[in-house]
Amino acid sequence: MDDLKFGTRNKRGDWAPAARLEYAPFWEKPVSLKKILGWIPGYLFPWNAFHMAVTLAYWAWIIPDVEVMKTLSWGWALWLYVVNALGIFIMYGSIELLYYVKRKQGTRFKYNAKFPSEQPSDVFWFKSQNIDNFLRSFLFSIPLWTVVEVIFLYAYANGAVPWLAWADHPVYLATLVLMVPVIHEFHFFCVHRLIHWGPLYKWVHSVHHNSVNASPWSSLSMHPVEGFLYHAVTLWHLVLPSNPIVALFQVNLAGYGALNGHIGFDKLEITETTPLDSHAYAHYLHHKYFEVNYGGDGLLPLDRWFGSWHDGTKEGDAQMNARFQKKKAKMNAKAST
Ligand SMILES: [Zn+2]
Ligand SMILES: [Zn+2]
Repeated sequence: MDDLKFGTRNKRGDWAPAARLEYAPFWEKPVSLKKILGWIPGYLFPWNAFHMAVTLAYWAWIIPDVEVMKTLSWGWALWLYVVNALGIFIMYGSIELLYYVKRKQGTRFKYNAKFPSEQPSDVFWFKSQNIDNFLRSFLFSIPLWTVVEVIFLYAYANGAVPWLAWADHPVYLATLVLMVPVIHEFHFFCVHRLIHWGPLYKWVHSVHHNSVNASPWSSLSMHPVEGFLYHAVTLWHLVLPSNPIVALFQVNLAGYGALNGHIGFDKLEITETTPLDSHAYAHYLHHKYFEVNYGGDGLLPLDRWFGSWHDGTKEGDAQMNARFQKKKAKMNAKAST
């Protein structure tokens, strides 16, 4: 595909989309029903539908019997870890293999023309972004994802929280399923904004930001504190009346869905004429500029409300620079008093 029909490439070879990043149409004025209806298929397919399908497969074949989960034991906890780790290895690994190792589409639609393997750095374990990110994911983040999973499954199995049945509450639970990405967006924004606060950034979140040029393995490369807080989004289902399948969708969306912001390509060419949108640009800009786009890709307008939205355009750049200048002036004024 000709990526220059969809965007521009600068002298360094970095590609940027021409289209402005947009919020979900609920937040645009005037609200247009036509736009909302046109937006729904992209909300569901392919990513959220994929996470839902994975969740149903987990429920059918992976999650142990309720009787087993009434007792905490290493057996079923380790089983869940192995499945989560294998799932991530296959999903992230296949994107890594096709687009970063084999480089099947070269740098077409790639935001940063360089590949992480070409940029060794001292900030990473073994000086390698790939090894560092891979090890942190499998040693910390996926185990902590599994811990969260064990906590909520154990709570449901023991009747510690209400377990709403689908037969009794079909409309409420179906609505809750559709709200899972919204809960994710809200939780992610709050946790993410918090760990950008100076001391927490240094101690915790800088680990994730070491990968300025993010790639699939960067997705879950986090400090353990972040690895837990990020997946803890699922614990909302111990507060809201819910069902363990919905909670499982929530944790899978966090674990498997972390990939989206870190694919590094705007579109993956599935065939010559079929592109798959990655929804990665907003979070790519976050890795590039740090203090913009704390949320995902605009499902909720939180960044707009807090003045940190960057829509990928020149005006977005100008607004960001004006904000940085203002912050600098404020800091200088503080330093001189
Ligand atoms: Zn990230
Ligand atoms: Zn961040």
